[in-house]
Amino acid sequence: MKKDSLRLETKIIHAGEPEPRINGAVSMPIFQTAMFEYAEETSYHDVRYIRLNNTPNHIVLSQKLAALEGGEAGQITASGMAAITTTLLTVLKTGDHLLAQNCLYGGTHDFVTKDLEGFGISYDFIDGNDPDSWASKLKPNTKAIYVESISNPLVQVADLKATVKFAREHNLISMIDNTFTSPVNFRAAEFGFDITLHSCTKYLNGHSDLVAGAIIGTGAMIEKITHKLNHLGGCLDPHAVFLLHRGVKTVALRVRYQNESALKIAQFLNSHPKVAKVNYPGLETHPHHKIARELFAGFGGMMSFELKGGIAAASSFMKKLTIAVKAPSLGGVETLITLPSKTSHAGILKEDREKIGISDSLIRLSVGIEATEDLIADFEQALE
Ligand SMILES: *Cc1c(COP(=O)(O)O)cnc(C)c1O
Repeated sequence: MKKDSLRLETKIIHAGEPEPRINGAVSMPIFQTAMFEYAEETSYHDVRYIRLNNTPNHIVLSQKLAALEGGEAGQITASGMAAITTTLLTVLKTGDHLLAQNCLYGGTHDFVTKDLEGFGISYDFIDGNDPDSWASKLKPNTKAIYVESISNPLVQVADLKATVKFAREHNLISMIDNTFTSPVNFRAAEFGFDITLHSCTKYLNGHSDLVAGAIIGTGAMIEKITHKLNHLGGCLDPHAVFLLHRGVKTVALRVRYQNESALKIAQFLNSHPKVAKVNYPGLETHPHHKIARELFAGFGGMMSFELKGGIAAASSFMKKLTIAVKAPSLGGVETLITLPSKTSHAGILKEDREKIGISDSLIRLSVGIEATEDLIADFEQALE
């Protein structure tokens, strides 16, 4: 059977795997060796060495992730931030200008606003849902446009169709951080994005036990980014590649369950008298519900909400919870709950945070794979 035509669930298990299997091994063995015997390689980047991101573990999992996104090629990195920064530094050169969505992940926001200037790269923020305003921010040196499939923690959904179209019209490289949707809910490369980025720390691995990233794009683009990665050194260790590979195999099961569970929890919170506001793209009241329904196979496991009674109510609610773990990060099998103002967005000035709608009492929830009824019962008692 032609492997390209297989469904996502089948690709997750079989795409990219070595043929024939290595010594018949059903699960991909770990090549825990820093270097390999010289095999007449002619280019530095082809020398087989962990930092050069070309161990059998790297190659197999990169091929799998590329297949899941519907892209030509992929690369794995030491973290989501290694994927993002290495890619931005490959695509952008001194004198270039970047258009970036105005509600980026905290680490990316900091890199764009604090580090790009040192490389002589300028940027402007755009409202992801107002494509008509983007052309006015274009400059002759604008090189790329950068968005996130679902933003953190307000779970906004940018106009991704308009992003791809705008990039093509203006000869820009379109980049998307697809961490929050995962390829289960949205396949960005297949949709038309030039470069897809992931923090595999989240849904792709799904077990809260490692940090990793991935980049998917054309073969030529991935080769360029890999060369930069080889120099910057953000490689993932083969043992972590193995763990990520193992985690990825259940991503469809986990994410589909999380889609269902999160929707029920969002509906429960939304109808609770002590809850002031729920941000979840699966709710019809969410400003980007229509666009999310059109673009995504599911609305994901992430939401944020505010209680009536502000920070005092939020703190008391968090203290009374018995199931959700109070920890940053997301996308794991455990339900995780945080105040973004104290974790992911603590690096941003309070006034800047408030400008983008992140109040000190906003609670962010990453729904795990526990029984939905147990989670709802726990939220109910904590709200009393
Ligand atoms: C966590 C996260 C990152 C950063 O990934 P790390 O693996 O922590 O480096 C980037 N983008 C988004 C949307 C994230 O959630």
